[in-house]
Amino acid sequence: MSIQLLFHRVFSELKEALQGEVVSAGHPLYEKSVKLWNAAVHTRPALIALCTTDSDVASAVRIAGKYQWDLTVRAGGHDWSGLALSENGLVIDLSNMRKVMIDADKKEAVLQGGATAGDLLAAADPYNLVAVTGAGSTIGMAGLIMGGGYGPLTPKYGLALDNLISATLVMADGNMLTASETENADLFWAIRGGGGNFGVVVSMRVRLHDAASVLSAQFLYPLQAAPGILMFCNEYARTAPDDLSMITGIIPGPDGETVVIVALTWCGEITAGEYLIAAFTYFQKPLSEKVQQLRYKDLLAEFDTFVTQGNCNDMKTRWLKELKGQSLDIILKAGAKITSGLSTITMQYCYGRAAKLPLDSTAFGLREPHILVLITSTWTPDDDVHAETHRRWSRDLCADLADDALPGGYPNVLTKADIAQVQFAYGDNLQRLRTVKSHYDPYQVFNSYPF
Ligand SMILES: Cc1cc2nc3c(=O)[nH]c(=O)nc-3n(C[C@H](O)[C@H](O)[C@H](O)COP(=O)(O)OP(=O)(O)OC[C@H]3O[C@@H](n4cnc5c(N)ncnc54)[C@H](O)[C@@H]3O)c2cc1C
Repeated sequence: MSIQLLFHRVFSELKEALQGEVVSAGHPLYEKSVKLWNAAVHTRPALIALCTTDSDVASAVRIAGKYQWDLTVRAGGHDWSGLALSENGLVIDLSNMRKVMIDADKKEAVLQGGATAGDLLAAADPYNLVAVTGAGSTIGMAGLIMGGGYGPLTPKYGLALDNLISATLVMADGNMLTASETENADLFWAIRGGGGNFGVVVSMRVRLHDAASVLSAQFLYPLQAAPGILMFCNEYARTAPDDLSMITGIIPGPDGETVVIVALTWCGEITAGEYLIAAFTYFQKPLSEKVQQLRYKDLLAEFDTFVTQGNCNDMKTRWLKELKGQSLDIILKAGAKITSGLSTITMQYCYGRAAKLPLDSTAFGLREPHILVLITSTWTPDDDVHAETHRRWSRDLCADLADDALPGGYPNVLTKADIAQVQFAYGDNLQRLRTVKSHYDPYQVFNSYPF
């Protein structure tokens, strides 16, 4: 069968089977769907299935299987490497499946597979409830949860995946399965860390927590103050209470100069938090400070302002046990040599609950205190002639940190090119993860991370 005939057959079978629209290149909904967070991704799939129901998803999986077409899943579109799309493949787009239902008595939410952190928090907020999310409201919850999910509430309540109660997935054969501690428990174990490698999550039940509002502090310091303030944060993290979370970074400042940011979130009793946060200003007077009490959903909207949609990006990651000595020197030197005024290095401190659970409780591969380093080269599409220079900056910094870093890395940011890190990202969970994968998806229909 010619490629054209095949395309028309798949297109018409999908149109027949799905309630949602099926679109190809040139259609405005196609162009909207292929626009991801990272404008450096230019992948052009053959077809996009804009699913609206679980049975749309099941039909799309079955038809892709029948014609052995590459299948990918798009939700919030924040995977920086463009995992959501494959060249000439079929995309299951979940952006019309974003409903959230709150059970305030049980403190649980049921959300569809395409729901973002913003969708979830907007629904939970009227009940003074919050969920563990990443530090951004437009990130898809399923993608975040299945890879890990570091966020401002992680020290207190664990990673986002530690708050998953159950998930319903369309599996490779198009059938649906529910996974929880009591049903398909091996699958439940694997999707908490193993990424979108097992099926399409059409709905999830997650745990919610009480929090009317949180205390947020953002301090900016000059780059020269970086050694002192980052060492202070490193020491502080050892004994910090679980109500406090810390993200530090080297970022472009308001006047274009590179600055150090310390972003603290306190989710405990407010007066105690104010007292504790003041320690950071006593240690070193910041260039600017913003301390405010706000709803958790509004905190995420604040984080959104640090990230611009539609720029080109290249992301690298390392896990560090601590940030001091050689690794601190390397980061500071790279911070002083940033090639683009938009690039960032951020350090998210992981301690508390997420670092105390047993390693084998989920597939996630690191359960000890650590720092998640994200190195993001960012440039505007107009500056694409210098793309290689910007990419080299993040890659060189990542390579330079290798000796001081733990051997793995955060799977939600690693790609097939980072194979040296991928093989260590799951620690002793790797073999079990591979066994579960070969049981539930023996023909590799879902290829999210290369483990
Ligand atoms: C600006 C930015 C900020 C970020 N901040 C954080 C952070 O604070 N903490 C953190 O932990 N991570 C963070 N991340 C990483 C982010 O959590 C992952 O990239 C996540 O996979 C994005 O999910 P998505 O739905 O938005 O992305 P998409 O690109 O739509 O999806 C990525 C992949 O996830 C899988 N997937 C998504 N939804 C489903 C589903 N319903 N069923 C099956 N598979 C699915 C698929 O394999 C899909 O291809 C950030 C990323 C960016 C770009």
